[in-house]
Amino acid sequence: MNLLLLGPQGSGKGTQAKRIAADHGVPHVSTGDMFRALDRATELGREVASIMELGHLVPDELTIRMIEERLSEDDALEGFILDGFPRNLAQAEALDTMLAVIGRRLDAILFFDLPDEIARERALGRAHEEGRADDTPETIGRRLAIYHEQTEPVVHHYRATGRLVPLHAERDVGEVHAQIQQALEQVAVR
Ligand code: AMP
Repeated sequence: MNLLLLGPQGSGKGTQAKRIAADHGVPHVSTGDMFRALDRATELGREVASIMELGHLVPDELTIRMIEERLSEDDALEGFILDGFPRNLAQAEALDTMLAVIGRRLDAILFFDLPDEIARERALGRAHEEGRADDTPETIGRRLAIYHEQTEPVVHHYRATGRLVPLHAERDVGEVHAQIQQALEQVAVR
């Protein structure tokens, strides 16, 4: 099963991605987690950390190469759950090409639809709980702006495939999980 999760920060993508990964035995591939795991003792690790702290996007070339390598690893052969990628149209086009080359396609694109105010509140709450250095009111606002400018066109891009599944992401974790299970059952019989 090849899944893509789209939505603003705070929409619950990461939480749901982990649950789907556990339910279906496919890896959760999160570019944010991969960037956070980079060793800050290296030049690359430091560069990426400073971009993340500003709430900006890491350059496409690096991000696309990292995803290309990750999706070709053995554990992703049976499927993957992409979370946080693609963030803009250039990345979406690179992903489409990558999948076309290996003869795979996205089974569903789960769109975590959430009003800005709730996204902002949740991201701030998480910043307090988890102490994430890249979550300040300023960077949260910047990420939301980048989301609207650059990632929303990706939502429209995938809507055209007919496989976009809109979710009510403001509902609680259990309800969103139920919406996803229902959508994935339909994918399975398609
Ligand atoms: P996330 O955990 O998905 O919220 O990502 C945290 C940060 O990592 C983002 O604010 C970006 O700086 C960076 N990042 C994650 N995914 C991408 C991506 N696909 N393209 C560029 N930058 C990314």
